[in-house]
Amino acid sequence: MSRAHAPGRVNLIGEHTDYTGGLTLPMAVDMGVTCEATPRTDGRVTAESREMPGEHVEADVASVAPGDVRGWAAYVIGTVWALREAGVPVPACDLRISSTVPAGAGLSSSAAVECAVALAVLDLAGATMPAREVARVAKRAENEFVGAPTGSMDQVASMLGEADHLIFFDTGEDTTRTVPFPLRAQGLHLLVIDTHAHHQLVVDEYGERRRALEAATVQLGVPSLRAVTDAAAVEQLADPVLRRRARHVVTENARVLRTIVLLEAGDIAAVGPVLTEGHRSLRDDLEVSCEELDVAVDAACAAGALGARMVGGGFGGSAIALVPTDAVAAVTTAVTAAYAARGWRAPDVHDVTPAQGAHLVA
Ligand code: ADP
Ligand code: MG
Repeated sequence: MSRAHAPGRVNLIGEHTDYTGGLTLPMAVDMGVTCEATPRTDGRVTAESREMPGEHVEADVASVAPGDVRGWAAYVIGTVWALREAGVPVPACDLRISSTVPAGAGLSSSAAVECAVALAVLDLAGATMPAREVARVAKRAENEFVGAPTGSMDQVASMLGEADHLIFFDTGEDTTRTVPFPLRAQGLHLLVIDTHAHHQLVVDEYGERRRALEAATVQLGVPSLRAVTDAAAVEQLADPVLRRRARHVVTENARVLRTIVLLEAGDIAAVGPVLTEGHRSLRDDLEVSCEELDVAVDAACAAGALGARMVGGGFGGSAIALVPTDAVAAVTTAVTAAYAARGWRAPDVHDVTPAQGAHLVA
């Protein structure tokens, strides 16, 4: 039997930058997916999940193709397919997963599933693959088998995470390096506040942002917005909407670099205001926030968070807050009270720390 664990992730700063070749700064979290792979002898692959009791999905290892499996099992079987496509001699096997990552809460349970399955199956096959290559296989499963057009940050963070570190991932250069982030040693917590809001705008709005940012890139005459290092340059764009969209990406890349400078100087608390500035940029320039996210960010900051921002695609999902240990309870209470006052469902608050990336377990 082979067993692997892969963590979820959260992105500290660098939002809506990956599809313009920009900068991101995620970390793997101390919640993850475990996958157990046991061999079979009949050419089949089966998938079961502790979180999906009673469901059992099967496919042929040699012939399974995109479209054959839908729903949650597509993340599992799709990873088997992507490994096979990458030339791995995938053996027939039973795959059982169990997870501590809440699905759809902004912690990338999907990448955790894919990376855990990939490592367990590779081990069962007696094969090895560099971590960055496993991340590519996992991303391919999500893009081509599940059919979700996501970037590669989630899988990169799940594979390369390290305790007490962030991963600086330059999506344009396709390079990574670790940045120190010893949260607890500095008396700090990172809270992920799941608003439970999901506004049905996401797909259309995402397409509009992509097109606007492509148009801005052409009009500025640069190969990618990452090449714009002087934020004033975007002010020459004639269209006010394109100007705002591009301003977000250019200032967000700069915030990632500022954050790294602060962290390498050892000052995590100083990152707080950079997070809040990032939220304002997502709210006012990229215009992807919503009332639930704004209320969570404002309530957290008013109750003692050093900074907070929405994370992920926007129009719902989660926010993060950087909080001193002695303010964690007050921030949690304040956000919950702000939601109750509006008649909204109470948010879930997850306290996460930077953790080791995907690995085999005994
Ligand atoms: P997230 O932000 O959590 O990655 P996604 O929509 O990308 O949200 O992925 C969530 C999906 O991943 C779930 O709808 C489900 O299909 C699958 N998934 C996540 N965790 C599990 C699990 N423990 N068991 C089965 N499927 C899971
Ligand atoms: Mg996901």
